[in-house]
Amino acid sequence: MRKFVFGLLVLLVLAAFALLIVFFAFLRHWAAVHTGTLNESGPYYGFWSGFGSDIGEATLITAVGVGVYTGVRKVNCHTKGCWRIGHHPLEGTPYHLCRKHHPDVPTKGASHEHILEQHRKYMEAQ
Ligand SMILES: [Zn+2]
Repeated sequence: MRKFVFGLLVLLVLAAFALLIVFFAFLRHWAAVHTGTLNESGPYYGFWSGFGSDIGEATLITAVGVGVYTGVRKVNCHTKGCWRIGHHPLEGTPYHLCRKHHPDVPTKGASHEHILEQHRKYMEAQ
């Protein structure tokens, strides 16, 4: 079954490639019309005034997207698949975890007494 599907895919790719070769002039003309590089006052005037002017915007959007992605990857919880912000370093490891995945951070919020008890234990351990 896999060989049949693979063979069918190869045949489809070859057919698409043959159609591309046969209709190359038509496709070239279609691309020229839709990118604005045909019948303008000068070569590529229509491209840079229309379709090509979006290249700068696409570059900016891509740069912002990469920056946001990198920032999210750096600050989020190191547990795989968790998108919470990893505020709490796990001692003895290089990982930062969210309060849901960190073993020592209470998930429902810490009371003042709990915080003072943790501090007291820390001071006694010193
Ligand atoms: Zn997490």
